[in-house]
Amino acid sequence: MPNDRFGREIDYLRISLIDHCNLRCVYCMPLSGVSFVPPAELLQADEIEMVGRAAIAAGFRRVRLTGGEPTLRADLVEIVSGLAAIPGMGDVAMTTNRILLPRLAEPLKRAGLRRVNIHLDTLNAERVRQIMRWNDLARVWQGIEAAEAAGLTPIKLNTVVASGYNDGDVVDLAALTVARDWHVRFIELMPLGRDEAAATARDRFVSNAKTREAIERALGTLTAVPSRNPADESKNFRLPRAQGIIGFISPVSEPYCGTCNRMRLTADGKFHLCLLNDDELDVKRAIRSGGGVEAVREILLRAVDAKPTGHALHRGRSTENRDMYQLGG
Ligand code: SAM
Repeated sequence: MPNDRFGREIDYLRISLIDHCNLRCVYCMPLSGVSFVPPAELLQADEIEMVGRAAIAAGFRRVRLTGGEPTLRADLVEIVSGLAAIPGMGDVAMTTNRILLPRLAEPLKRAGLRRVNIHLDTLNAERVRQIMRWNDLARVWQGIEAAEAAGLTPIKLNTVVASGYNDGDVVDLAALTVARDWHVRFIELMPLGRDEAAATARDRFVSNAKTREAIERALGTLTAVPSRNPADESKNFRLPRAQGIIGFISPVSEPYCGTCNRMRLTADGKFHLCLLNDDELDVKRAIRSGGGVEAVREILLRAVDAKPTGHALHRGRSTENRDMYQLGG
């Protein structure tokens, strides 16, 4: 497993497959004026597999596919089966808005996908439209049911809490864990990027302390559930007599950079060293000029070595050159 300069074991690669999305969440992607990476500039399935092989050769153990919306890649099943078949690959997971899961959950499971994290900000039909803009509640449930039926479990729901949008809905989301063995995770809005969505993210921050308070006031005291994974960014809890887990991911109010185990690959072929910094190393150029797995492994190890200690939000600095939909969270 590769260690960075600060002794962190970096073994988890998040691969963004595309910057396009079929939603326009208010804090993530504007309704107009967005330009996307041209298809020829996206890493192709064989190039992604090559990066996967290099990552395993470098000591990485697992990958997660993200985007934009990864299910918009027509070659997604091929990408998953290529990555899942690499000897030593411990886990292939995906983060998705679940809209296309009714069609894709089964073939993805057969191709080797283990689990999905599903993005869901509210259970209120009106606010689904208001926040996600191109979605409705019926499609929310169909996607989750398809993931569960295909065995892409445990089901983890990711809720980004934004003041004035869904901070009033956190209790209903948390209550899902009483009868279901799901993980519902509340994520703090991160200020990053350049456009109006980034400004929304800056203005609508809600701390997880506040979210937790609202949940405990309505549903009872949370009991801590120790995580088996020391690099788990989520602090986990259970409601009284609940089947599932409630998690709080608090990158702004309680940064966990000291245990960060991640490297990110952008859809246009750059290793992005820290979500909330702009530092990147190009890997696509090496691949397209004939470099093989060994060349990619060397670049990846350099990227690990150059990973910043942590973010600098407290000093007013963040990622400026990329928006969240170009990084994948
Ligand atoms: N399309 C997929 C999805 O919806 O999960 C994967 C990509 S999306 C960028 C990944 C996650 O990032 C989503 O849960 C989304 O809500 C979250 N996200 C977007 N902008 C964010 C921000 N500024 N701060 C925190 N999370 C954000």
